[in-house]
Amino acid sequence: MSKYKLLINGELVAGDKAMDVVNPATEEVLTECPWASEDQLNQAVAAAKAAFPAWSATSIDERKKVVGAIADTIEANAQEIAQLLVQEQGKPLQEAIGETYGTVAFFRYFMSLDLPVKVIEDSERRRVEAHHKPLGVIGAIVPWNFPLILMSFKIPPALIAGNTIVLKPAPTTPLTSLRIAELVKDVVPAGVLNVITDKNDLGAPMTAHPDVRKISFTGSTATGAKVMAGAAGLLKRITLELGGNDAGIVLDDVDPKKVAPQLYDSAFRNSGQICIAMKRLYVHEKVYDEICEELSRIADEAIIGDGLEQGTTMGPLQNKMQFDKVKELIEEARDKGKVIAGGEVPDQKGYFIRPTVVRDIGDDARLVKEEQFGPVLPVLSFSDEDDAVTRANDSPWGLGGSVWASDLDRAHSVADKMDAGTIWINQHAALDPSLPFGGSKSSGLGTELGQEGLEEFTQLKVINMKKETAA
Ligand code: NAD
Repeated sequence: MSKYKLLINGELVAGDKAMDVVNPATEEVLTECPWASEDQLNQAVAAAKAAFPAWSATSIDERKKVVGAIADTIEANAQEIAQLLVQEQGKPLQEAIGETYGTVAFFRYFMSLDLPVKVIEDSERRRVEAHHKPLGVIGAIVPWNFPLILMSFKIPPALIAGNTIVLKPAPTTPLTSLRIAELVKDVVPAGVLNVITDKNDLGAPMTAHPDVRKISFTGSTATGAKVMAGAAGLLKRITLELGGNDAGIVLDDVDPKKVAPQLYDSAFRNSGQICIAMKRLYVHEKVYDEICEELSRIADEAIIGDGLEQGTTMGPLQNKMQFDKVKELIEEARDKGKVIAGGEVPDQKGYFIRPTVVRDIGDDARLVKEEQFGPVLPVLSFSDEDDAVTRANDSPWGLGGSVWASDLDRAHSVADKMDAGTIWINQHAALDPSLPFGGSKSSGLGTELGQEGLEEFTQLKVINMKKETAA
């Protein structure tokens, strides 16, 4: 029997079924974990529905206290949670520690926000107020690349706004969510936060459930489209944070030695498995050779290994499916470009791929057109800035992008022409809980983080009072 339990209605309960969780660095079974049945999903939704009236009637300050208590609990157990994150997800321990404390900080950020009533008009004739009301039960669905930080985009704003939640992590990274559920069981009122785990089979029924009022989803574009279709029948609210194929554009006035380490980190952190990783790099021909050389030198220095081993700078891919997909993209890229770093799969257990840099690759390569979500970066050259922007924008996605330059005005004018939810200048993937985050085109719908990310968990309600009594 697994030591991990689901959290349903304030109780830790065994799953009706069980499944294995694999350590991606060893390919060995790490532990057994509960696999909730659809009946248990329904129990979790029913518990969240029953808890909603009392929870939504509490004051926002009381709810913030609960969110603060969750943050304190994660912080007090951060080292243990980070170790578990490495074992289930694969990332190096330092990055896992960063994600864990980042999660605490994101939780606490939302405690600084409020949902004040906005008085739109207060005249002799009428008083009109805009209120933000909670929605009800939120279904929160999370992928496997950042199981902790992505939960902090959803749990704190949903709870502070007065909603209750059923959280479902990805099947390959359920353990940190279950451990946090166990730790916070007694600091959150029963039914307000429920955590269930599945084998990719409960997202669809959760989306279709009539008592779930909103789905807050982070994951692939293909699954996001299914969520949208599943929610349509009930006109359910959805926020979709989906895939991306972020372009970086490097102008001709950069110092290659200065920017290359930052470009490398933007593409390869978390083994490239970041929605807003830099996934295509367009470099001005004047600095192209030097940037390629620097990137390949840095990539060759990477120490690949188990995230718990000291010195490891890059862990494995998180799961076999992703590992196989990235290997396939590299094989195709060999014919379409020149591999100047990596490209090999070390002869050892674990889903490891060395950081791979491919230059002189055509725009039509799958590695350029698709989301690789792994440690391989195509580097393309350009001579005309507008051409680089056109090529960068020629994508179904629009999550993030970046411009790198010494002349900040020039960089800003390029950034202005790029089509994505966020464009960074001289940085990439610089997430901050106070800044709204969302994608354009197939990268998503709606916004997370910031005040907007809190308001997305509410229904706008207008009270329009004529200043005249009815008697
Ligand atoms: P995925 O879409 O396969 O799975 C994401 C989650 O959806 C999992 O919890 C999964 O169990 C669940 N799911 C599966 N089928 C479902 C269904 N029919 N209905 C509802 N939920 C269902 O994605 P993944 O492979 O785990 O994650 C990688 C993808 O996530 C990448 O494309 C990446 O870019 C994207 N991502 C986006 C963001 C963002 O903020 N935009 C952040 C992280 C990852």
